[in-house]
Amino acid sequence: MENGKIYVIGLGPGGRAQMTERAVRALEKCGCIAGYGLYLELIAGLIEGKERIETGMTREIDRCKAARDAALSGKTVALVSSGDAGVYGMAGPLLEVSAGYEIDIEIIPGITAACSGGALLGSPLTCDFACVSLSGLLTPWEVIERRLRGAAAGDFAIALYNPASKKRTDALPRACAILLETLPPETVCGLVRSIGREGESRALTTLGELAAQPCDMLTTVFIGNSATRVIDGWMVTPRGYRGV
Ligand code: SAH
Repeated sequence: MENGKIYVIGLGPGGRAQMTERAVRALEKCGCIAGYGLYLELIAGLIEGKERIETGMTREIDRCKAARDAALSGKTVALVSSGDAGVYGMAGPLLEVSAGYEIDIEIIPGITAACSGGALLGSPLTCDFACVSLSGLLTPWEVIERRLRGAAAGDFAIALYNPASKKRTDALPRACAILLETLPPETVCGLVRSIGREGESRALTTLGELAAQPCDMLTTVFIGNSATRVIDGWMVTPRGYRGV
């Protein structure tokens, strides 16, 4: 039997409106959909009647292997991630577990939270920026600290993914303390929650106040660079043109 194909699909932050046409078309072609339950719910209308491979949040490798094996049995499979599948998503692990197998793989990019959240706040990432995940699940905290210090030293604007979870509530305060070693407390910051989903919200604050802001696993946090300012309620990192 011929091997099938795996489409690794970034779904964007939530909802059909922020998915690409290419992602929607690929989903239509797939008879089997693999992904975290919450994401499958977000696209329920698009995958009605299709076979589902669901595993819990922390069983990503099992999910990738199940997707690979389904493709090896001849199926056309979608492996879905929220946002972009290559940004803290399933594209890397899928490529790793598929190494050496003859499977056709196509990776379809999606709008990552840094972009969809940045658009809600204004334009915080206009110039050079860094993304840092505060999840210590796969990255030792010392490494996260080193990256935060590096981003602050380089005057990068920063998008923080995974700033908290139910069990992990101290990551954002710890990150703030590290950034405050270098950056002034007035540094403009923003938080977005549930982008593109019910209850979407945005808030502006400063680095000095950031640690006290409510945040959870559906929040993405933005820290401006030394030039970032608030203009009419927007978080703006100037591009640097003269005369504006
Ligand atoms: N692949 C995803 C990121 C997965 S890591 C992407 O490219 O966006 C999970 C983290 O992403 C969350 O903790 C949060 O920080 C961010 N995130 C993903 N979807 C989000 C949404 N709809 N609203 C706000 N933050 C989101």
